[in-house]
Amino acid sequence: MSEALRITVWNEFRHEQHNEAVRSVYPDGIHEAIAEPLRSHGYAVHTATLDEPQHGLTAEVLASTDVLIWWGHMAHDLVQDDVVAAVTERVLDGMGLIVLHSGHFSKPFKKLMGTSCDLKWREAGERERLWVVDPAHPIAAGLGECIELAHEEMYGEHFDIPQPDELVFLSWFQGGEVFRSGCVFHRGRGRIFYFRPGHETFPTYHNKEIQTVIANGVRYVAPAHAAKPVYGNAKPREVLPGVAGN
Ligand code: ZN
Repeated sequence: MSEALRITVWNEFRHEQHNEAVRSVYPDGIHEAIAEPLRSHGYAVHTATLDEPQHGLTAEVLASTDVLIWWGHMAHDLVQDDVVAAVTERVLDGMGLIVLHSGHFSKPFKKLMGTSCDLKWREAGERERLWVVDPAHPIAAGLGECIELAHEEMYGEHFDIPQPDELVFLSWFQGGEVFRSGCVFHRGRGRIFYFRPGHETFPTYHNKEIQTVIANGVRYVAPAHAAKPVYGNAKPREVLPGVAGN
């Protein structure tokens, strides 16, 4: 079934156009670096970027997306509120959402979390170890005890998010901080996976283990396609003695 999943990778695609250091790491854009390994897993992957009409996230695109992956950083404020509303509505209706790295401050993530989503940060190119704290979790399938990244931006606690429904990774940084770097949240009928690594000047999305986590994440947050719940006044399923008219 997983091969039938339709994925949209959304990237604001600004750093790559303005910063040579970022372009040299991601010449085709961060979205392509994320999309290509997923295509090699057999998924149908579409990409969308900020400067397209409706940021490439039209009603048609969202309706035909099972899992949306989001990378944004410098242009969060330029994302139109009607698109944010449409994205969050689709998540509540069952679309999976994977929010990467600086997407912690994106409008859809903040709206779905309801908190500031703020954190500590430092750009020193230090070592990060992402420890698997839930080895039974499907998102950790195929990994060792930890993923080691030689150079990453530091994100540190406190991370102002609601208590995650599931915690998969805890990061350690060379400078001493820790961070809840792989968190799953349930919202409505949808699931959201926040995954921390992916600063634009480091080749993090070329790392095979990081690619494995994202592919596992896609399968995990994909819609379950259970019946849509019915709310409100409900007729009894069986005859209730003493209740008129049933
Ligand atoms: Zn960053």
